[in-house]
Amino acid sequence: MADLIATVTSAVALVRQLAELNAKSKDAKLHDLIGDLTLEMSKLKSQMAQLIDENTDLKAKLKKATGNPGAMTVGEHGLYYDMAGDGPFCTCCYDVQKQRVRVVEVAQMLQHAGRFKCPSCNTRFK
Ligand SMILES: [Zn+2]
Repeated sequence: MADLIATVTSAVALVRQLAELNAKSKDAKLHDLIGDLTLEMSKLKSQMAQLIDENTDLKAKLKKATGNPGAMTVGEHGLYYDMAGDGPFCTCCYDVQKQRVRVVEVAQMLQHAGRFKCPSCNTRFK
């Protein structure tokens, strides 16, 4: 991003040099075109700065939303819940593969080995 700003800044400086050289010229049409080009380059630089700010904000939001997969708490039945309270998730799948696999409650007659089961790794949880 810094390279982009540097490139536009250089382009604006070049256009200004052209404008200075053109000031000695009597060509009104060329003078107007360089003036318009200078204005458009300044707008471009301003718009790029806004886009860079927006991009920085979006990156921060994305990182906040997805960049901290370790933000889990141990809740009921020793299972994982995320910071928003969503869950329960399999502790084995999360600890080993960093995958959030939602566990399912098994039928009552099959709960002797555990009340919850991970559909991915089949681990049972009491
Ligand atoms: Zn699992």
